[in-house]
Amino acid sequence: MSLSPSSNYSLKVLYDGYSRMEKGSMRANCTCTLIKGPNNMIIDTMTAWDRDKIVSALADNDVKCEDIHYAIGTHGHSDHLGNLNLFTKAKHIVGYTVSFGDIFFIHPFETGEPFKIDDNLQVIPTPGHTSADVSVVVKTAEFGTVVVAGDLFEREDDVEDPSLWKYVAGSENMESQEKHRNEVLLMADYIVPGHGPMFKVTQAMKDVVKKSSENR
Ligand SMILES: [Zn+2]
Repeated sequence: MSLSPSSNYSLKVLYDGYSRMEKGSMRANCTCTLIKGPNNMIIDTMTAWDRDKIVSALADNDVKCEDIHYAIGTHGHSDHLGNLNLFTKAKHIVGYTVSFGDIFFIHPFETGEPFKIDDNLQVIPTPGHTSADVSVVVKTAEFGTVVVAGDLFEREDDVEDPSLWKYVAGSENMESQEKHRNEVLLMADYIVPGHGPMFKVTQAMKDVVKKSSENR
């Protein structure tokens, strides 16, 4: 495990996301994650209909909306962005856009540059699902390195069954998505996917990535 001795970050998944076909319509909501520590962060704020759920889940974790320093939407789909306006004390990062109020900060995510918050917390570009997806990398004492990956991973099953992320969730650029999936599988001890519970990255998952890069 790549533990940083100085990390005092903790991570709590507030809601497990899902996606399924039901009577001919897609029912989906995103996984919503809270990171607590020197910088508090909420990642993917569900749909606009989930305001009360989010406020009460934060209260259960002794966090008020105004305690959040960073509010992240991993990409620009409506089921990941519904409640950003609860977090008016926070810097917002939505895809590659970084803003606070009407101030927009230039950050070159498109060149691959991570947005480093501190030694244990950063936002990295992981395009593919859309052309401007980001993921959060946090070092925690409890879980080691966790990558909160949005829809880079739909859910754990898509590691075995790529048709889930390629065709069911949809991918704007499969080649790019696969490259970033592989990088995340190698760096993470745990992954929080966009529409399912957090899962452990097994050695077998890492070995598949290593083998595929050797054969290239
Ligand atoms: Zn999604």
